[in-house]
Amino acid sequence: MVTTETRREELKAVFTEARGCTRCPQLAATRTQVVFGAGNADADLMFVGEAPGAREDERGLPFVGAAGKMLEELLAGVGLQRDDVFIANVLKCRPPGNRDPAPVEIENCQEYLFRQVELIRPKIICTLGNFSTKLLRADPTGITRLHGRPEIRVVGTRAVRLYPIHHPAAALYTRSLQDTLREDFARLPGLLELPEPDQPEPDQPEPETEPDLLQNADDPGDHEDPGAEQLGLF
Ligand code: URA
Repeated sequence: MVTTETRREELKAVFTEARGCTRCPQLAATRTQVVFGAGNADADLMFVGEAPGAREDERGLPFVGAAGKMLEELLAGVGLQRDDVFIANVLKCRPPGNRDPAPVEIENCQEYLFRQVELIRPKIICTLGNFSTKLLRADPTGITRLHGRPEIRVVGTRAVRLYPIHHPAAALYTRSLQDTLREDFARLPGLLELPEPDQPEPDQPEPETEPDLLQNADDPGDHEDPGAEQLGLF
């Protein structure tokens, strides 16, 4: 049986794997440490930002700089604190000079995020800004059009309510976004009250292939279609 404890242990194993990751040679060479994510491994609400900055890289924790302070204030405004939620990023390593994540880096790193979602099982994923919104919606539509509109999406293997909002760092630079962010945050308690979305059927295991001596290889016969391909506190 899959228990909270086994999911937590598996999340730690993913963390251990990510800590030694060298899929992106430049990031592996320049990071101080991997910033896996932090918070309640059984959280209903997960936030996904872009990538660690200098402070995060130094401390090994996400959102501990100025954007993190704003995120904490926004959380407090709806009666939540960091320990109630899980906070992660699209990239687990800091891009040098805080440059944008490269497409190949996002692709290399996405498996860690999907595994985090699968193990934490949040009801809501709040994507912060363009990078996480585009990745988790698998669509290039930007945050300006999408913010504040929840929708049910399958992320990896989990159906979740995806709730895109502006990145808190953007609101540090554009003050008018602060009101928008507060308004979008104010809908979170109501969204958390909603029931979890229905989960997709788990993938069927691949049927074992045995040599079928009676079937001609060119003859599809009446074979079945095999079907579609198939963390506590840190
Ligand atoms: N910005 C992010 O997207 N993530 C962090 O962890 C910090 C700042």
